[in-house]
Amino acid sequence: MTKVDTVVIGGGIVGLSCAYYCARRGQKVVLIERDTLESGVSTGNAGLVAFGHTPMPRPGVIKQTMRMLFDPINPLYVKPRFDLAMFKWFLDFRKACTQDRFNKCMKILTDLGWGAKECFEQIINEEMVNGEYRSVGWLDLCLTEERLKQSHAEAELMRSYGYNVESLAGDGLRRHDPAVRDEVIGGAHYHDSAIVDPGRFVSELGRCLPERGVIVRTKTEIKRILTKNDRFVAVRTTGAERIEANNLVLAAGIWTSQLAKTININIPMQAGKGYHVNLTAPKPMLTHGVVCAETFVAATPMAGTLRLAGTIEFSGINDYVVQKRLNMLQIGARKYIRGIGTSQSLSFWSGLRPCIADGLPAVGPTAQVKGVYFATGHAMMGFTLGPVTGRIISECIVDGKTEQDITLLSPDRFSRAGRG
Ligand SMILES: Cc1cc2nc3c(=O)[nH]c(=O)nc-3n(C[C@H](O)[C@H](O)[C@H](O)COP(=O)(O)OP(=O)(O)OC[C@H]3O[C@@H](n4cnc5c(N)ncnc54)[C@H](O)[C@@H]3O)c2cc1C
Repeated sequence: MTKVDTVVIGGGIVGLSCAYYCARRGQKVVLIERDTLESGVSTGNAGLVAFGHTPMPRPGVIKQTMRMLFDPINPLYVKPRFDLAMFKWFLDFRKACTQDRFNKCMKILTDLGWGAKECFEQIINEEMVNGEYRSVGWLDLCLTEERLKQSHAEAELMRSYGYNVESLAGDGLRRHDPAVRDEVIGGAHYHDSAIVDPGRFVSELGRCLPERGVIVRTKTEIKRILTKNDRFVAVRTTGAERIEANNLVLAAGIWTSQLAKTININIPMQAGKGYHVNLTAPKPMLTHGVVCAETFVAATPMAGTLRLAGTIEFSGINDYVVQKRLNMLQIGARKYIRGIGTSQSLSFWSGLRPCIADGLPAVGPTAQVKGVYFATGHAMMGFTLGPVTGRIISECIVDGKTEQDITLLSPDRFSRAGRG
């Protein structure tokens, strides 16, 4: 039997960051990962550290989505199946697409973005962690007038929250990055953001944890969470080991819902599957991260290769790779970036984004079981928001409060009592 202050379940960017910040605050921490630290969605993502981000649900997105369903290189796929939880999730998503909700989410996400920037800079400056982090920002690339108008409106919106976003015509973008093709008519440069090799960052952060005193257990799965009188007491591993602690942080990505269910807590999430393909370096190589605005494909230079990442597929929790959707990444990037057509595919990957319908993650304590904290549901933004989530969780655990207003992030918003 082991006894510590805090057990963290999940060795992705969110769990690692929670363990890191709790240990920094003097806590004795055990981090449990059922596979390896590199096995979750945190390592294969696009590597855009996009400080300040819009939420998925927003006014007009349903109409846009319906149009996309008829597009042959549609970045969205919903597998037709009878699934009540998924149906309910889509209804909640639709409900969240109001201007009022969008404004509330924007306020929180842009605040979190500044905290995220601070956390990345602090980790990089104070630890032997770098992950090829480069503060070059990312470029939004548009081919059509219709999308360019939206890009400029979005840039204006982000400027109103204090972010440094430059709206540019095609030539301006090409001056920043000569790998941008002539067909691109304009877009924006998000200067505050950065790019990173997420796999390297996760491995390096994982390596620095033991130096901070964290016990890291990989290849160990948590099957049971033990409670007594509505208080967390211990977890039991598949090897039947009991680990007692005062606090439990559930940071198990898309699998958090299943763990929460074992203690009767409802965290409704759907898996948003995405893919990446790593290509041999095209000439000229991109020097920034980019997002191809019409096709939603992200491209990032990474370890001498070019990573294309994107698509969102709601088909449940599985790791099937649909070749047609994987091919869409190259098709979707070709018109925006030079040399994609002649680059060779080196490797591919799929991963599951933990998506909550209302566009915000679940971060903070639950009143339903004392001593339990949630850190999950970051969907498209989880790599960027992982470290700041860890800092917030450590403040909640150690100080019993946090500077950041996390009311709307409460994991209790899905319970009957939480909904009021
Ligand atoms: C194609 C794609 C591109 C993306 N691009 C970006 C981007 O550019 N920028 C960005 O900010 N975000 C991006 N994201 C989103 C981001 O990757 C995720 O939001 C984030 O990585 C989620 O991290 P996590 O730690 O919550 O989950 P994970 O990384 O999945 O970690 C959860 C871990 O918990 C472990 N686990 C589960 N159950 C148990 C258990 N019972 N016991 C022990 N361990 C358990 C799992 O094995 C897993 O390792 C992208 C995602 C995709 C798919």
